[in-house]
Amino acid sequence: MVHITAPVTQDWIAANERAAANRQAGRVVTMVRPGVYQCPSSKGTDAVYTQTILNVGSLSATCDCPHGQYGTSGKCWHSAAALAAEVRRVSRPQASREQMLAKMARFAHR
Ligand SMILES: [Zn+2]
Repeated sequence: MVHITAPVTQDWIAANERAAANRQAGRVVTMVRPGVYQCPSSKGTDAVYTQTILNVGSLSATCDCPHGQYGTSGKCWHSAAALAAEVRRVSRPQASREQMLAKMARFAHR
């Protein structure tokens, strides 16, 4: 589980919506190594941008895209997509139904 301490502001929501639209269009991030991702530009060029996760809990990441260079670092869709991928990577796998039932059995009335 990842504990996110950063406020989910409107610019984050907008970045995540752009990331979702780009994902549907086939533009996804790929992990270069843990905490470092790359994804293609959505502008129809061959550009590939690199995102580095600084702190997943505070939604902190850098991106070398033009948007990321002008004081809005961490709010481009590339960083939003990379942070989502990092959350998936570091999150514990979801328990199976059997594991969950076994865990909840101790609360059953006898
Ligand atoms: Zn970017």
